[in-house]
Amino acid sequence: MNAPATRPRTSRSTTGGHEPTLEIDLAAVAANTRRFVRQARGEVMAVVKADGFGHGLHAMVRTALASGATWLGTTSITEALAVRATGVDAPVLSWLNPVDADVTTACRHRVDLAVPSENHLAAVVEAAAWSGYRARVHLQLDTGMARDGAAPDEWADLMTTARRAEIAGHITVVGVMGHLARADEPGHPANTTGLRVMLSGVGTAEQAGLRPSTRHLAATAATLTEPETHLDLVRIGAGLVGIDPSESTRLRSALRFTAPVVQVRRVPAETGIGYGHTHVTDRATNLALLPVGYADGLRRDASEGAWVLVAGRRCPVAGVISMDQVVVDLGDDPVQPGTEAVVFGPGDDGEPTVYDWAHWAGTIPHEIVTGIGHRIRRSIR
Ligand SMILES: *Cc1c(COP(=O)(O)O)cnc(C)c1O
Repeated sequence: MNAPATRPRTSRSTTGGHEPTLEIDLAAVAANTRRFVRQARGEVMAVVKADGFGHGLHAMVRTALASGATWLGTTSITEALAVRATGVDAPVLSWLNPVDADVTTACRHRVDLAVPSENHLAAVVEAAAWSGYRARVHLQLDTGMARDGAAPDEWADLMTTARRAEIAGHITVVGVMGHLARADEPGHPANTTGLRVMLSGVGTAEQAGLRPSTRHLAATAATLTEPETHLDLVRIGAGLVGIDPSESTRLRSALRFTAPVVQVRRVPAETGIGYGHTHVTDRATNLALLPVGYADGLRRDASEGAWVLVAGRRCPVAGVISMDQVVVDLGDDPVQPGTEAVVFGPGDDGEPTVYDWAHWAGTIPHEIVTGIGHRIRRSIR
């Protein structure tokens, strides 16, 4: 049987009922990607780490490339190989690996490797010399985060060694990369400093005789707010799925998370709800039970303040979110069991968004979208 081109908005499980579902709207991802392709001065890398920011690796890769992205980026080699396994031909960069990672397999599958230290470089050169695969390397510089990348006082030695390995035919230095700590604060002086440090690193590379053609520094926020940081390539992750860390641009969210009401009960005033009775009703009301909890990505620390949309009404979470379930307060009007509750979505119909959940949980939307549990059914449309 052929798979249907589009799937219905609600889904039925093998047991016949509705089930909690994460809908992924690839048209939104495509629209966001095209926006970045238009805005970037150079090329666009789609960053598809963490299972494409929780949206599904395969779907994100396919959609981003079809919408104008020309590079793919991941953290680990394992993730990069998963990208290659989708059959794409575009360059794939992996930037976070231990020194004893399987760089031979990475080279064999034409995975570009970020190199943050002389130890990493030595491992890549050895694997290349031994296997005969010329490695494609991006020198990864610490441009002001004290996180990943080589510190400025290591650059000269790293680049001299890299140039020697290039002449020996083991590697090609195709790129230099940095990352900004405070790009979500447009105009912050740390961004100007980061760009200056990055360009001085490129200068050091050129003095060593290297000719990196792909200089890349900006991620989503800097791409939207600091055009001079674009250089040859921008690396976009959050923006593809509708998150702008600088909150300066309206992008389109691609996720809609729904769950069916399992049970409805009428309770009197003074009823304690859930573990620890952290919520006690102040009036008679109707409660609905949803079969999703913190194991599914409903943050327990959002219990206070969170609400979902049921039958078009905002229904606050009542009591603490459990591992597998949550109770919401319907107020005076009950609904039928089976009614769909919207946990979050793009916000078009008044439902909460991932920004709301992030706010309630005291975190950023990235952590919400990458935190949806594996047992939630995915429905791609
Ligand atoms: C995750 C990541 C990105 C993507 O950042 P967004 O703000 O999500 O676009 C870019 N570069 C590096 C090194 C990353 O780790």
